[in-house]
Amino acid sequence: MTESNAITLSTQVQYLQGVGPSRAKRLEKLGIHTAQQLLFFFPRDYEFPAPSCSIDQIQDGVNCSLVGRVEDVDLITRSPSRSICTAIIANDSGAVKLLFFNQPFRAEQLVLDQQVQVSGVPKLNGLQVEFTHPKLVMLSSDEEMPEPEILPIYPLTEGVKQTDMRRMIRPIIEGLSEQLTEVMPKDLRVRAVESLSCQGITVEHELPAIHASIRGLHFPADAQSLNASRTRLIFQECFVLQLALAIRQKRLSIERKAPLLKSTSMIDARIQNRFPFSLTADQKRVIQEIREDVSKPYPMNRLLQGDVGSGKTVVAIYAMLLAVANSHQAVLMAPTEVLARQHFRTLSSFLSGSKVRVGILSGSLSASERRRTLEETRSGDTHLLVGTQALLHAGVQFQKLGLCVVDEQHKFGVAQREMLRSGGQDPHYLVMSATPIPRSIAMTLFGDTDLSTLRETPPGRGVVHTYLSHAGWKDRWWKFVRERLDEGRQVYVVAPMIDASDVVDQQSIGENDVREDVSSVESVFEDLCNGLLADYRIGLLHGRMDQDRKQRVMEDFQSGKLQVLVSTTVIEVGIDVSNATVMTILGAQQFGLAQLHQLRGRVSRGVHDGHVCIFTDGDADPDSHERLKVFAETNDGFELAEADFRLRGPGDMFGKSQSGLPPLRIADLQRDYEVMSAARKLAKESVATEEFFVSDQWHELRGQVLRRYGARLDLGDLA
Ligand code: ADP
Ligand code: MG
Repeated sequence: MTESNAITLSTQVQYLQGVGPSRAKRLEKLGIHTAQQLLFFFPRDYEFPAPSCSIDQIQDGVNCSLVGRVEDVDLITRSPSRSICTAIIANDSGAVKLLFFNQPFRAEQLVLDQQVQVSGVPKLNGLQVEFTHPKLVMLSSDEEMPEPEILPIYPLTEGVKQTDMRRMIRPIIEGLSEQLTEVMPKDLRVRAVESLSCQGITVEHELPAIHASIRGLHFPADAQSLNASRTRLIFQECFVLQLALAIRQKRLSIERKAPLLKSTSMIDARIQNRFPFSLTADQKRVIQEIREDVSKPYPMNRLLQGDVGSGKTVVAIYAMLLAVANSHQAVLMAPTEVLARQHFRTLSSFLSGSKVRVGILSGSLSASERRRTLEETRSGDTHLLVGTQALLHAGVQFQKLGLCVVDEQHKFGVAQREMLRSGGQDPHYLVMSATPIPRSIAMTLFGDTDLSTLRETPPGRGVVHTYLSHAGWKDRWWKFVRERLDEGRQVYVVAPMIDASDVVDQQSIGENDVREDVSSVESVFEDLCNGLLADYRIGLLHGRMDQDRKQRVMEDFQSGKLQVLVSTTVIEVGIDVSNATVMTILGAQQFGLAQLHQLRGRVSRGVHDGHVCIFTDGDADPDSHERLKVFAETNDGFELAEADFRLRGPGDMFGKSQSGLPPLRIADLQRDYEVMSAARKLAKESVATEEFFVSDQWHELRGQVLRRYGARLDLGDLA
């Protein structure tokens, strides 16, 4: 057995040609231990050959290459360490000058009459074309033209250079890539091309096999083969993910049982009669989607997204009443106590005079109240239960839970939903979010969830104007605020928390887990009371206050007793005071786009136009400035979500730990949206067939899906 035969995909890199123990140690920092990992260490970019150019066409500062003959070489040495080597290279289209500083060996390398390829970025000096330190390739004969070569550029670590990476990878490519197992049979690659072309992505011919793709990714022969190789590997990564999600969805639909909730036209009419308005076309469409879901014997898993005020809660109430009409209970979970109470009030008012009984379970109940609510929930006397996370920890038992609605999903842990299973059945699951999810995230992190979207706003709303304040605006703005107050409107003033570590925690503003530094909102409150808004009734609201005080302040604002509410972002979620139309946001650079938009939603509740003015303290950095500009320019939550994703990436939006999925290696959620769509479509089709789970030709692919996502997504054994 020769040495090269002994090398396999699992060979430790230190035994590879040109690596050795010390370099192997450095490669470990890049996560490379085996030959296979080295093969799958993908370039982050490429260096493309400069286009060859005739000398009379050369443009100043534009990368190019040319082939010519050395006509003159000159070396001026000023001292041992200071020299200039100049050379003239000529061909039929003219001559160029090369300059090399402190590289005296160039004078020997450039032999007169030698044929040489020069590439680099030229400078036009009058009529003279000059290259300083160009790249040179010596050509041995007149005829020879070098192969244009696309060079891979790898992520590096200390002590490993670009040329080292290329030298280590090149020799193993040929032998080892042949050993790779193909997980995408030819038939699938052909179908992938069709699916991709439906998304507007064209691949010449077909997607290459794995060995050709790996070769084409490291050392592409030309741009087309690079493109085809990349597309194949990106597609594969997306496809494996989408298969996992599709399998999970299928598995849940088979294994989980949920009650059938039927709707007749009678039930529909009775529910709609409860609302003092007619549903919008959007609401009707989404309700229809939900009705279809809950009429199946497995749990609905649907995310309902729509801007603040788009009427999600009304849709949820419809679904809850559908459960009640089918003799089941429903539960509504809110992220905060304040919001839970508000939902309770809303539900109670829609249902006044009906037989449906609504209960609330929250952190501030007395022990006996709590016991009674729990008892009534267990016995089935309470039909609809509203509450916060406390619900999950209170040992709630339902008599017959049919539907669980969660408001503002991203503030809830995914695992918590398991706690609501009872009696071998799952409730149907409806999640509402006013933070629209960028389409690519919706397809991945929420890929096993069905999505409904409300884009239409219920009629009769004012519009919201947003102003990005400029220096010197302060007086003008507060004068405007006082004018609105004098007209009878109410006003919010939002101040951020000071401590940077707390800013991170804004995501989890619940009731008890808040660690706010409230000194800034307190000082804003003091200032306004003693100055600009001294003549008005001002209240203060923040997470450090105890439940009762908070509740009182909210009620006083709701009833109009308070005209101004100075607050932290506790008002972010869902507070509904339609007479409040003006909002001042201080320190706005500290808020994310989604959060700002949520805040803005507070002043678009009624018939009056809303006005939001955002102030920054100090100089906002360029990123924040861009974010705030986008915020002031668009009022569409979906556009903002895409912009947020563009500006900050997906991590910030959902919290890295929440996705629970391993990072993608070569695909990029945003850039490769179309590929992901194509992969999703094909994955759904594949998983719908029996063949996918049994046929030999899918064997390797099933294995890869299991290895990568099996445990994380609880995929079982695929059998
Ligand atoms: P969201 O939960 O999306 O913020 P809500 O369901 O709370 O929105 O609706 C916001 C406001 O609009 C509520 O006061 C609600 O009563 C009202 N509303 C909802 N749907 C309609 C409709 N079809 N026509 C008129 N008003 C509506
Ligand atoms: Mg809401």
